[in-house]
Amino acid sequence: GLRDQDAPTIFDRIIQRQIPSEIVMEDEHVLVFKDIHPQAPVHLLIIPKRRDGLTQLRYATADHQELLGKMFLTAARIAKEQNLRGYRLVINDGSEAQQSVFHLHMHLLAGRQMRWPPG
Ligand code: 5GP
Repeated sequence: GLRDQDAPTIFDRIIQRQIPSEIVMEDEHVLVFKDIHPQAPVHLLIIPKRRDGLTQLRYATADHQELLGKMFLTAARIAKEQNLRGYRLVINDGSEAQQSVFHLHMHLLAGRQMRWPPG
């Protein structure tokens, strides 16, 4: 059987449009949509459309290199398009890091002063 973390996630249903989300950008490889519980005025999730073993970043291999680069470039492009003055990218890997959805995703947070590290 599937290990818990290999089971399909809510993100599959978002990709398939089985549940609604506010999609910001989509191409063949990545989907970007608004987080349902935003932690900043801008809070987007950047995900691969095919999970391809990437329940967590720790399972990344050289085979994923292009996809991972694509996720970063997508973040940078959106930040430029939206004229973000500053932004933060976060990947939570593992429940100790508060990962709750086991389909790799990058958080893009912006629109407010971040509070860490202390200034
Ligand atoms: P994690 O905690 O795994 O790093 O991040 C998962 C994120 O997915 C959370 O910030 C959570 O708010 C978001 N999320 C969970 N379910 C949904 C959903 O159904 N729709 C959207 N748009 N975001 C979701």
